Order: sequence, then structure tokens, then C-alpha cells
Amino acid sequence: MKRREFIINSAVALGGAALLSGCNKKELIKSQNEVVKRKYKNIEVPLLALGCMRLPMKGGEIDQVELNRMVDYCIEHGANYFDTAYMYVDEKSELAIGKSLKRYNRKDFLLADKSPIYKMKTKDDVRKIFNEQLKKCQVDYFDFYMCHNINKNTVDTYRSVEMVEELKKLKKEGKIKYLGFSFHGTPQILKEVVNDYNWDFAQLQINYLDWDVVKAQEQYDIVQKKGIPVIVMEPLRGGGLVNLSEKPLKELKSNSTYTPAAFGLRWAASRENVVTVLSGMSNLEQVKENIETFIDFKPMTKEEEELALKIAKIIQSQGEINCTACKYCLEVCPRGINIPALFALYNQYKVTNNKMLFKIYYESLGEEERADKCINCNLCNKNCPQNLEIPKLLAKIEDEYKKVSTLERK
Ligand code: SF4
Ligand code: SF4
Repeated sequence: MKRREFIINSAVALGGAALLSGCNKKELIKSQNEVVKRKYKNIEVPLLALGCMRLPMKGGEIDQVELNRMVDYCIEHGANYFDTAYMYVDEKSELAIGKSLKRYNRKDFLLADKSPIYKMKTKDDVRKIFNEQLKKCQVDYFDFYMCHNINKNTVDTYRSVEMVEELKKLKKEGKIKYLGFSFHGTPQILKEVVNDYNWDFAQLQINYLDWDVVKAQEQYDIVQKKGIPVIVMEPLRGGGLVNLSEKPLKELKSNSTYTPAAFGLRWAASRENVVTVLSGMSNLEQVKENIETFIDFKPMTKEEEELALKIAKIIQSQGEINCTACKYCLEVCPRGINIPALFALYNQYKVTNNKMLFKIYYESLGEEERADKCINCNLCNKNCPQNLEIPKLLAKIEDEYKKVSTLERK
């Protein structure tokens, strides 16, 4: 065992106590193999970041020992960016990551947190909750801080409590280094939000499956146009691009040596102006695999970009609804319903059974594009080369959405 591995393993085994005796903080041990970093404003940011929404669990609680191992491995390999939020893991994520990072000097890591819009009643709540978050994370400033989950349900509160005004003050006080927002709404809302402030960054859901059908590209383009750097969330679509089914997996394996996770992460990280890619890792094995991808990071080639599009099409076409996303139906629908996007969402939902992701993506479509706007005119059926009974399928999707529509984000 190498010396530095011995030190880390000993520290983990002893809960860090032995190592830390005589000094307050964990020694910063660096591997020669570090993940690639990108210059962002006046700092360097690792291209891979640990998302703290799916932390390791044991007996219904966060497994702090495993989390510490993950954090140590990340920091040792230069992946020192950690992203948490008030609501993650039943509001326990901030406490756990704070506890883990407390073992390090503050300058050795970058911490991102988010303001829970859904909890805001008045303007004063913005600062009150911010202070609570600092305390939970055991820090006195956040490197990256954002208005969390702006969408059609939260945008009014975000404005009425004058969130940006209060956060601007906190930035001025040095308690926020970079101010941004995370987004799950429609392109229309995004066009308005990007003009609210001279944002330091925007956190968007970007992956190769959503790029075309769920308007991820449209959102990315809106932000690009304003020159706002992007932080990528859900690069693997909540795990949907890791557990590929037989056909898309075969296509990937025949044309690439990368694993599905590495391929998806590289695709997201290869977009221009991306600061970092968040991956919600749940154990050390995932951390190791993802870090390996970013130590030797190579942007996607043109051939790989084409392969990603091909795999996305296969995934879309082989779900329960055999839609190939040809979009012929869109040419005739008088209501502008986004039929292929809805079918892709439904197919993905049936594969992952991720109710929350289905709800979020459904609500990220414009209201006029949704299944409930269908008037049963049947014009689309005539244009569908797959002979799909589109209105009936839309009704089924609407029923599914109704079942998950009241779910609250954790
Ligand atoms: S049946 Fe519904 S989806 Fe099809 S064209 Fe008419 S309104 Fe659009
Ligand atoms: S015409 Fe049929 S196959 Fe083509 S996008 Fe519409 S529903 Fe899908």
C-alpha cells in the first residue's frame, strides 16, 4: 500500500481522530493523478463534482464513514467541488457533507448550496435560511450559491421575496462568492430569469438523451446567448443513461470502449462553457469510476457526438411507445403538443420508474405542449409512420402525470 493511501485508510478507520491529534485539519494529500480542471473567473474548478443528493445510506441514515471515504478520494484526486441543497436527503445532506468537509481547511474545497424557494414566505427568510445553511455546513461562506429549482411553480415566490436583491447583499458581504440559479422550468421562464441579474452561472439539466427532445439544447442556448457559464446537473438522467437496455448498450459497446456512465459524463462535459458536471454518486466505487474518466478526460470526437445521437434515438424508439422522434406529427397538430417529447419522457419513466424525474421533466414542458391540451382531432395519427394512436397514448401519459403531480421534491 502506498504511503498516502495508508494515511487516508488509517484516518478513515480511526474516524480521523488519530490523524488529527495535534492538528485541527486533515492533511491535504494529493494524488499525482488529478481530474482535469477548468479556469472559471479567478479560480480553477474540477470538471467533475460530487452531487450530494444521493448519498450512501445505512440503516435509513447517511453512511458518514462511506461519505468520508468518498470525500477523501475526491479531494485527493482534485475533485474538490461538492454540491448540496437544503432539501437533499430529507434535509440531512448539508449536515453530512458539512461534517465531512470540516476535516479539511476551508480553502481546500469548493462548496455549493441552494436557497430553497419553496420555504420562503418573506424577504427575511432568504437571509435567515442562508444563515441556517452556513451553520449546517459548518462554513462561513459558500463558493457557489443559487436560487434552487426555478420553475413555473416557484418563479412567483422567487420574485415576490426579492431573492436576488437579498442574495446580492450576501455576495457583497463575502458570504457568497458566485451567485447563480438552478432551473427546471420552460424556455420562456428561462428567457426572463437570465435577465434578472448578471448571473455568475446557471445550473441546467443537460444530457444527450434530453438534448433534442426535452429542449435541453434550447435552454443551453438561451444561457449561452447571455454568456452565462453552465453547471451541468443530471448528466446521466438520474441513472437512466447508466443502465442502458440491450440495444443501446450493444450500439455503444460496438463503437466505443467507454462505459455508459463515462460516455454520458464525457458528453455533458464536452459542451462549451461548462464549468463542471455534477454527478450524484452513492458509493466509493462510483466515485473511483467517474474520477478515472476525468483524470484522462478527452472531449468527444465528432464520431462520438454522432454515436450519442444515435443511441438517444434508439432509447427513444424502443420504449413502451414505439416513437422514433421523427416529428411528422408536429407538422399537423393544431395545438402544438410536443408529442415526441412526451413519449420520450414516458418511455424513460417506464424504464427508471423515477416518479420525481417524470414529474420534473413533464412540468418543464410549456403548458401548451402538454398531453392534456389534446383535442382528439386525430390529425396526427395520419402522419405517424409508426401508426401510433397518439391521442390515446397522450391520455395515458396525462393519467400517469396526475398520479405524480402532487409529489414534493426531497
Ligand atoms: S389528436 Fe391531439 S395530438 Fe393529435 S393532432 Fe389533434 S390535438 Fe394534436
Ligand atoms: S409521427 Fe409518430 S413516430 Fe414520429 S414523432 Fe410523432 S408520434 Fe413519434
